[in-house]
Amino acid sequence: MMKIDNYAVFGQPISHSKSPRIHTLFAEQTGQLMDYAAQEVSAENFTAATTHFFAEGGKGLNCTVPLKELAWQYADHLTERARLAKAVNTLTRQADGSILGDNTDGIGLLNDLTVNHGIELKGVKILILGAGGATRGIVRPLLEQQPSALIIANRNIGKAQAIAADFTALGAVQACDYASLVDRQFDLIINATSASLSGDLPPLPEELLSAGGSCYDLAYANQATAFVKWGLTHDAVHSLDGLGMLVEQAAEAFCIWRSVRPHTAPVIGLLNDERNVNSTNR
Ligand code: NDP
Repeated sequence: MMKIDNYAVFGQPISHSKSPRIHTLFAEQTGQLMDYAAQEVSAENFTAATTHFFAEGGKGLNCTVPLKELAWQYADHLTERARLAKAVNTLTRQADGSILGDNTDGIGLLNDLTVNHGIELKGVKILILGAGGATRGIVRPLLEQQPSALIIANRNIGKAQAIAADFTALGAVQACDYASLVDRQFDLIINATSASLSGDLPPLPEELLSAGGSCYDLAYANQATAFVKWGLTHDAVHSLDGLGMLVEQAAEAFCIWRSVRPHTAPVIGLLNDERNVNSTNR
């Protein structure tokens, strides 16, 4: 009997994760024989659980909250984008048994913004709200699109300044606090805070979004998030949540593991249809 290759996502909490569904749909679509499971793993148990997973023959692992920094420390080798992000969401066992750490969050966001939604980034003013692990993963691919400005705003300005300092060699990136956003305008506002998860919003000036601008919330939910609603009420051309990014970052991981790129549009469409059925969405 042919042995099935095993993959998993570790995190805490994990029961809500859509990753097993997404990877199962990718595997069906591309004819790959594989299994992908979700496992609740705390930060304390991460090293033991990961070592056990790979020792048992596991091929690849996704890591989510609160494990991305631990995965970055765990990897034997890092891709350049993971090294810079200081966070890893994809671990892969290589032929020699060593573990490669990668970060596919940034390319996931970029593909959703530019390919799926046709949002132009070159020459535009971009504001990122929040300075956590997700922000670290998205700064480099955004800077590579040559925006005219990239500002990171955070409550704890020290964290925003630290990220800006790490990436300043790659382009014009600056840090500020929320009070400094008064009288400024941006063409694209990306919410990378975890505020949406509790229905909150950072304090945003009414005039923050330029005419014709767009909003993107990395968080996603069955109903429109607080930030997606903010975008809609401030006339954003696009006011999107992070479901597309989730599918796109998964596609990148799948491609690393299986050397075949799945089509993301049907999977995004299916997940959107399912949540529209389950909610009275926006
Ligand atoms: P972190 O915990 O690393 O960072 C959270 C950030 O949110 C911090 O900067 C924190 O500010 C800020 N924050 C939290 N609450 C508030 C609030 N009420 N008001 C203002 N700022 C607040 O989280 P991550 O960076 O890992 O994740 C951020 C978001 O991105 C989450 O919603 C996550 O689900 C989502 N995400 C989505 C992905 C996708 O594929 N769609 C992929 C990765 C992440 P401070 O530093 O001041 O405390």
